[in-house]
Amino acid sequence: MRPHRVGWLLAACMMFGAPVAPVKAAQPAYLTSVLKVRQLHPNMYVIEGPANGEGPNPNMIIYATGHGVVVVDPWFAIDYLHVLAAIRSVTSEPVRYVVNTHFHEDHSGANAEWPADVMIIAQDNSRKHMLEQAMPGPPNITFSDELTLHLGEKTVRLRYLGPGHTDGDIAVYFPEWKTVCLGDMMAGTKGVTNPVVGYASGGTLAGWPRALDKALAFDVAEVVPGHGAITGRDGLVAHRDKVAAIGDSLRAWDRAKKSAAEIHDLLISTYGFKPINLASLDGLVTEFR
Ligand SMILES: [Zn+2]
Repeated sequence: MRPHRVGWLLAACMMFGAPVAPVKAAQPAYLTSVLKVRQLHPNMYVIEGPANGEGPNPNMIIYATGHGVVVVDPWFAIDYLHVLAAIRSVTSEPVRYVVNTHFHEDHSGANAEWPADVMIIAQDNSRKHMLEQAMPGPPNITFSDELTLHLGEKTVRLRYLGPGHTDGDIAVYFPEWKTVCLGDMMAGTKGVTNPVVGYASGGTLAGWPRALDKALAFDVAEVVPGHGAITGRDGLVAHRDKVAAIGDSLRAWDRAKKSAAEIHDLLISTYGFKPINLASLDGLVTEFR
C-alpha cells in the first residue's frame, strides 16, 4: 500500500492489484514533528498509527530485549529516519530483527532502509508476493508455520495464521507480556474492526476466524491490531466472532438471493463497513455464493 500519499482508496487499489500510477510524495503531516512513542511495558513500546488508525500507518511495536531490539511492522521507506529517531529516544540497543506481519507496504516498505545486518523476517508467502511485485527489501528470513527468536532470556514467537487478510499473515507473540501483534488480521478505527480481504493475494473471509483461533491459542492478555486501538483478549474474541458473523450473514444473504448492491448496503448498515472493506465486495459475494 502507498496510502499516506493518496488515502485508503489507493491502498485498496494496491491491495487488490489494480494498476496505480506513481504519485509524487508529499511530506505527511505526522513527519513534521517527532513521532510519539508510547510505553506499554518497561521494555516494550508502540508507535501508534496516527489518527487513531484512520491513517495508513499501522501500529509498530518496539521490543528491547537487552540483546537487541525487535521491531514489528516498520512503516514506509519515507518514514525510516523518523522511526529510527523514535526508537533511539527509548533505547540505545541495536535493532536486530524487523518482522513484517504481512507484505503490504505500510508493514514492509522500510525493509530496505535498515542496515544489512538487520534481519528482515516474514512468512514464505509474504516474500513471494514482495518478489512478484518487485517491492524493495524482501525478507531474508522466512518460515512456513512457526519460528521462535531467542534474544538472551527473551523469546518472540511467530506463527503463520493461514489465509485471511492475505495468504501470508502471521501473529507475533511476546510471552514476556502475553502480547500478540496481529497485523491486518485485526484492523480498524475507533474500536470498530472489519476485515479487508486481499483476494488477489490469497485472502479469504471464510478462513479468517480459524486463522484468528491460532492467535488465540497463545496465552493472550494484550492485543495489538494492525491499525486501531490496542485491546485485550476479549477484544480479539469479539473481533473473531464478528468476522464469523459476517461470513454467516454473507451465506444467508446469498440464500435470500440478495443482489451485490443490496449486500453492499447491508454490510454498511449491519457491520459498519467502510470503503476499504467494501473494495473486496465482489470477492466476498463470490466466496459465499
Ligand atoms: Zn494489509
